[in-house]
Amino acid sequence: KASRSFKKENTVIKFKNGIEIGSHQFVMMSGPCSVESEEQMRTIAKTVKESGAHILRGGAYKPRTSPYAFQGLKEEGLKILRKVGDEFDLLVVTEIPSADLLPLFEKYVDIIQVGARNMQNFELMKALGKSTKPILLKRGLSATIEEWLMSAEYIMNGGNEQIIMCERGIRTFEKYTRNTLDISAVLSIKELSHLPVIIDPSHAAGRWSMIEKLSLASLAVGADGLIVEVHNNPEHALSDGAQSLKPKKYLHMVDKLKELSTLL
Ligand code: PEP
Ligand code: MN
Repeated sequence: KASRSFKKENTVIKFKNGIEIGSHQFVMMSGPCSVESEEQMRTIAKTVKESGAHILRGGAYKPRTSPYAFQGLKEEGLKILRKVGDEFDLLVVTEIPSADLLPLFEKYVDIIQVGARNMQNFELMKALGKSTKPILLKRGLSATIEEWLMSAEYIMNGGNEQIIMCERGIRTFEKYTRNTLDISAVLSIKELSHLPVIIDPSHAAGRWSMIEKLSLASLAVGADGLIVEVHNNPEHALSDGAQSLKPKKYLHMVDKLKELSTLL
């Protein structure tokens, strides 16, 4: 069902505020790695709104490598995200950790994110097949394009065809960057599938200094949008500060993206 041979026309995911993912808009999903407080979310949402983006990101359930690292504000985080999203008229996207939380996510969230570490949690994929919300499906840490599309297939087979693929860097031998951004994954997905595909340069690079250039490359290669980490005080962020853009740098990047889009 995910394949281009099954369906020729591109899948376009439409939202109530006029946003379309997979058509001609380059969609920005921006915000902090983790929801830390209402005040933090409000400060960052203000920048996100100012940039012209329409979707606010922020993790409430955090899949951290160490069990001793900040695990997220959980339901409280979902409530803050929803509240601040509504205040600024922004859609919200956040990661679901397990199938049992689906009713809560249905209530608070506009787009449900599947994290890289959960891409092959097939019971979760089956549960999301019954969801009414679009799914942002991140590529697994070491997943091939085929494995990634098969996870989309699980969701679609359950009846939910609203899937946005997200390339977020893969594991290679290289350690200078957090992961290796597979920019050609966008072209592979476009050739093999009708589903929209976006790029997460933040988790790919792991370094804020690389985000602007990787974002411009994402636009140039034909991605349908970006999900990018922005933080008002990255030095003190509870997660992923090193890869988060400060508001000024983020706004500069958005200007550059607008400039580039007029040339394409
Ligand atoms: C995130 O978006 O904050 C995240 C944890 O991403 P990933 O699943 O790609 O590592
Ligand atoms: Mn993060």
